[in-house]
Amino acid sequence: MALVGAGATLAAQSRINELNDAGWKALAEGNSRRAAALFEEALGLRPDEPVLLAGAGAAAHAEGKDREGIARLRRALELNPRLTGASVILGRILFDGGDAEAAIKTYEAALKHAPGDRVLTDTLVNWRRETEVHRGFEERRYDRFRVMYEGRADESLAGAATSILNTAFYRIGEKLGGYPSEPIVTVLYTEQQFRDITRAPDWAGGRYDGRIRIPAAGAGRDPALFEEVLVHELTHAVIAGIARRGVPTWLNEGLAQYFDGSDPQAARARMKRLGAYVPLARLESGFNRFSAAEAQVAYDESLLAVGVMADRAGFGWSRLLARLGAGERFADIISSFGFSYEDLEAPFMK
Ligand SMILES: [Zn+2]
Repeated sequence: MALVGAGATLAAQSRINELNDAGWKALAEGNSRRAAALFEEALGLRPDEPVLLAGAGAAAHAEGKDREGIARLRRALELNPRLTGASVILGRILFDGGDAEAAIKTYEAALKHAPGDRVLTDTLVNWRRETEVHRGFEERRYDRFRVMYEGRADESLAGAATSILNTAFYRIGEKLGGYPSEPIVTVLYTEQQFRDITRAPDWAGGRYDGRIRIPAAGAGRDPALFEEVLVHELTHAVIAGIARRGVPTWLNEGLAQYFDGSDPQAARARMKRLGAYVPLARLESGFNRFSAAEAQVAYDESLLAVGVMADRAGFGWSRLLARLGAGERFADIISSFGFSYEDLEAPFMK
């Protein structure tokens, strides 16, 4: 977003411009902590500048501080309702946080000032469709979790889901050293057939994309598997709450399996039979390109590598995730945690 300056000395103005540009650049590069500091400094010079408030809000969001992000973005829009960029970010945060109604209102208000804006109109179409589908949604509201279901109401399944989420949340949070405060939204699709996680992206059991989504018809017949799938996706949600980005896929999937109770012995046996492996450094950016067989290898390696770190008592999970979230690369920092790639790959390299 660009600043339109008024009423400042030329020197102060150019310093603010500089900080603003650097702030948005840092955000685009995923360096949210630096972005937050830059916008903070600029706001010290001009506290009521909407663009700076929007930047600070976006940075807070990227740092996982959604409440602060929402407050900053709302203030920015109060001061300048024409700031479409701020509306876009605010709506997205609200929607991902489970408040579709407020998200839709935000975009509708923004459209009055930017008629025909493509991002706003396209997103609104999707959100309205999704809300339409969810109109029959029953919903259970708890402080930390919102469990909704699409399709036939299934109170007992929603209740089971909530209690599984509650128990697992504290177990995961304790190990990772972080308890994200934003609500975690889970959507149970009660008319889509519940399936196993086959470890292949196309037909995975559940999904996390800001919300946990689980096909749940028939899940009651296999409560153990339902719990496994739910805990797996919950782990992704907790990790996203601690480090919004920058977590290598193998680390994310390895942790999700570590907590969902996947069996490392079975993974080790499969890797041994295979007699080949993929370097971890090649498993950083998504498993979607893999076939089912390749995906199995990727998931097995992920679980075994995470096991090496998880087995060390007091491993600094929260520090590791925070540094990744702040934009540092795994390869650059892992040695400072006392591990090399060889250590992590050891369980499947032999
Ligand atoms: Zn996963």
